[in-house]
Amino acid sequence: MLDKNAIQFYDKDEKVWELKKKRVTDQRCNQSSHFVEGSFYGGRETMTIDRLKQSQLMSKEISDLIISHEKVAHVQLQNPLDHALLILIKSGYTAIPVLDNDFRVRGQISKNEILDSILGLERLEIERLHDITVETVMKKKIPRLKTDTTFSKALTTSINHPFICIEDEEASFVGILTRSSILALVNRYFQQST
Ligand code: AMP
Repeated sequence: MLDKNAIQFYDKDEKVWELKKKRVTDQRCNQSSHFVEGSFYGGRETMTIDRLKQSQLMSKEISDLIISHEKVAHVQLQNPLDHALLILIKSGYTAIPVLDNDFRVRGQISKNEILDSILGLERLEIERLHDITVETVMKKKIPRLKTDTTFSKALTTSINHPFICIEDEEASFVGILTRSSILALVNRYFQQST
């Protein structure tokens, strides 16, 4: 952790130095005085991580970043795959959430899962699209977060997921959080604080 009573700076090799204020007693005149003690601290990356840790950004709630459910393209468990494919193609998204009749998140479906499910030995069996339901092929193991989750937790979760479904206390679907909105905020934070 960086000390508030210290000055940090980069040297020409991008190493971070820390100059600390220290209180000492001068034996001859019995008075306290300050002097500055220098120490090598770390590289640019260490400094960046410390700055992020100290900022309020990491403990902020994600609620402001959520794309509300009315604006999220989704399908339902019993929809046939031709319907899901239509929504995916027309919306332009690679994957979208799957909800049940009570508006709870049950999984997500992507173009890849749909095409994989109709892959025959020699061709894509398009005629089967209408007979298979979304529930049969969707991905069930997906990350979910609550609206009061911290930005720090959302950032970690987003590393492996382009979007995360957000639920309220009753597990109803609230909306989604995209990795791009998380990165945009981190980027804005660093632009402002340099
Ligand atoms: P983006 O960061 O905007 O590219 O979004 C990342 C992923 O989140 C997209 O590929 C979609 O899978 C999903 N997504 C983003 N916005 C929506 C939306 N309005 N409706 C459904 N899915 C979305």
